[in-house]
Amino acid sequence: MAVFPIRTFPDPVLRMPARAVAVVDDEVRRLIDDMIETMYAAPGVGLAAPQIGVGLRVVVFDAGEGAQALVNPVLEDSNGSWVYEEGCLSVPEHYWGIKRASFARASGLDRQGRAVVFAGEELLGRVLQHEIDHIEGVLLLSRLPRRTRREALRELREEALQAQGPR
Ligand code: ZN
Repeated sequence: MAVFPIRTFPDPVLRMPARAVAVVDDEVRRLIDDMIETMYAAPGVGLAAPQIGVGLRVVVFDAGEGAQALVNPVLEDSNGSWVYEEGCLSVPEHYWGIKRASFARASGLDRQGRAVVFAGEELLGRVLQHEIDHIEGVLLLSRLPRRTRREALRELREEALQAQGPR
């Protein structure tokens, strides 16, 4: 297993919809193991493959019941409404109160390629929605109200410029 560097905003890979996994083979299982190790090292509660630069529809998460993997995840159902201080490993050190469904149910394949369903309220529901967004190339910034999003983008661009240093 290996810990991979996590891609951060504004890396374009984070904006690209990922490709479906054709077969859950040893290579995909190795990717899942690396993603789980990277998620725990960060530390975070979820990680999607594009966040380590791999354009495949694979997510891992641990909403308190151990590490889980979901391949080719599909959000089947969501309802309710819940505002929660949400962050993202690809937009480090920022948190925003983001409104999402309070319940979510997602289906997909597990690491053996078997059909699996995860459903939950609160953190699990939140993580499922957040990670499936990543698979579609959507960052949590897109879930902010317009005005907050504008301010957030301005702040992040300034930070990125400062990180590059003077030219
Ligand atoms: Zn994220």
